[in-house]
Amino acid sequence: MNNFQYARATDVADAVRQIAADPAAKFIAGGTNLVDLMKYEVERPARLIDISRLPLGTVQPTPSGGLLIGALVPNTDLAYHPIIEQRYPLLSSAILAGASQQLRNMASAGGNLLQRTRCFYFYDVATPCNKREPGSGCSAVDGINRINAILGTSEHCIATHPSDMCVALAALEAKVHVRGPAGERTIAFEDFHRLPGDTPERDTNLEPNEIVTAIELPPQGFAENHSYLKIRERLSYAFALISVAAALELDGNRIKEARLALGGVAHKPWRRPEVEAMLRGHAADELAFHGAADLLLRDAKGFSHNAFKIDLARRAIVRALTQAAKGTPQIQSQKKVR
Ligand SMILES: Cc1cc2nc3c(=O)[nH]c(=O)nc-3n(C[C@H](O)[C@H](O)[C@H](O)COP(=O)(O)OP(=O)(O)OC[C@H]3O[C@@H](n4cnc5c(N)ncnc54)[C@H](O)[C@@H]3O)c2cc1C
Ligand code: SF4
Repeated sequence: MNNFQYARATDVADAVRQIAADPAAKFIAGGTNLVDLMKYEVERPARLIDISRLPLGTVQPTPSGGLLIGALVPNTDLAYHPIIEQRYPLLSSAILAGASQQLRNMASAGGNLLQRTRCFYFYDVATPCNKREPGSGCSAVDGINRINAILGTSEHCIATHPSDMCVALAALEAKVHVRGPAGERTIAFEDFHRLPGDTPERDTNLEPNEIVTAIELPPQGFAENHSYLKIRERLSYAFALISVAAALELDGNRIKEARLALGGVAHKPWRRPEVEAMLRGHAADELAFHGAADLLLRDAKGFSHNAFKIDLARRAIVRALTQAAKGTPQIQSQKKVR
């Protein structure tokens, strides 16, 4: 049992003040990831700063025609929000592909971004893990790495980011609003999560003294032609082996705009601008979709147990793009549960 202090932040400025004053403190929102990590003794914060009652729970239109999602909007409320369902169904679908109804009721939008990897060794404190204990080694490289990354890995870490929601947010080109002692700043979604490199202990570019206040969606939601396809070991309540967020804007059968992001393959949602540029102006056909899959997976490298992911990802990309082009998105089985 590790003792820790508990304090509730009174407002966002107070939350920032408290976290800046104590490097051993952590924010707690829904607690669905952090409490597990504390039980496993992977994380041992000396102080929990409860942010769950801060006024960051609304979804509001922005002057530019987009949406501002408060960091404390529960995943369930976000997935079923009427504007999200109508204009950003890709995001709704990705959220509903994750976790369970009970977890989504507790999980917050900000916490989803900051959830930690599900690499088995990260959770097993008896094994070396550079992410948990820098410099100790990576047990997954030569261990059981079925769920680990095939893209953007380093010799120090081959973990994946486990979120579904983030894959859709990457495809939608969201922005993350954060606040720290120096004031507010906005981080492009592409720059929010990091590749492991030689600092795998850092998942994101959020500073330790900053709080996520909101996620901004641009106006374009790709409501007509999108699909979130998640491949996993079981049909529900499992993290992605591979997931694909595909979004197209079509002019007849020609692609005007394309977005493609992969989950379950890297330390961050995997997107390549050259893939989307290649699709632009092309007919929405199998030739283009196979070409996009090949280019997106060009640098993929499998390890002893996960090389199968490369072919699986290739097929999933083609299927998701085909579903998006036809306007027949993957339906998440949980969609009917309210
Ligand atoms: C059994 C199980 C299955 C799951 N399956 C899936 C799945 O299939 N797909 C999927 O995407 N997710 C899945 N999840 C993960 C779940 O979505 C996350 O645990 C959840 O989104 C985290 O949100 P939270 O509010 O509970 O975060 P917390 O646990 O409260 O916090 C998580 C981290 O974020 C930090 N944090 C929280 N809010 C902020 C903020 N506003 N600013 C700065 N830091 C913050 C905390 O300090 C902590 O480090 C699953 C979880 C469980 C337990
Ligand atoms: S892959 Fe990353 S999280 Fe997993 S054991 Fe290696 S260093 Fe740790």
